[in-house]
Amino acid sequence: MHKLEQLYEGKAKKVYATEDPDIVIVSYKDDATAFDGLKKGIIQGKGAVNNRMTNFLMKKLAEHGIPTHYVHELNERETAVRKVQIVPLEVIVRNISAGHFASRYGVEEGLVFDDPVVEFSYKNDDLHDPLLNDDHAVALKLATREEIMQIRNYALQINEVLKTILLAAGVTLVDFKLEFGRTADGTLVLADEISPDTCRFWDSKTGKKLDKDRFRRDLGNVEGAYEEMGRRLLLG
Ligand code: 5GP
Repeated sequence: MHKLEQLYEGKAKKVYATEDPDIVIVSYKDDATAFDGLKKGIIQGKGAVNNRMTNFLMKKLAEHGIPTHYVHELNERETAVRKVQIVPLEVIVRNISAGHFASRYGVEEGLVFDDPVVEFSYKNDDLHDPLLNDDHAVALKLATREEIMQIRNYALQINEVLKTILLAAGVTLVDFKLEFGRTADGTLVLADEISPDTCRFWDSKTGKKLDKDRFRRDLGNVEGAYEEMGRRLLLG
């Protein structure tokens, strides 16, 4: 498989065409941004951890019947994935209050929910990814009602699988963001990444943050947190 022209460059990844129209190559960068791109930095080694962790978790999810865009890991930073049209929804699942949930509703971080909370944001940087509900998403034609129901079911199943894998590595899954895409025939598949950039991971014993909040909140040892998550998950 050959890397042809660059199709897209996002904040943390680049996407390249291949000779197969249904396959693209994702290349993970060390660049980090937060707060709508206002805060910028480099997290050395992040791209490799995020690439390998995403692939590891997507393979596990596939074993549990979740369709994903994953095809084949090419090297440390690059992976062949199915070409999809991204559904412009950020699908967030929360098990414990943190981040925008805590600030939006005026509660402390660390409240453990009886049931997971699924929420959707409109993936739109200019509008700062506003929160929306199913009716808004259907009205805006971002997804059909059936797709939204399927996305919600997948998100809850993914939460259960990820929680179990992470717990075995001594990590509590606080919350995370997923993105889904449609393949050429309209099949909904999990896309994007599952990494410390897109999830909140807290050490199960100490509560230490092992994710991008270390960068967002200037907590120090950012690289160390990514390396530690890589060690815990990928080296067993
Ligand atoms: P919050 O809404 O509290 O900021 O984020 C909830 C979860 O979704 C966190 O795990 C966070 O990392 C992830 N998340 C939400 N929006 C984004 C985004 O635009 N980019 C990334 N990388 N993660 C996001």
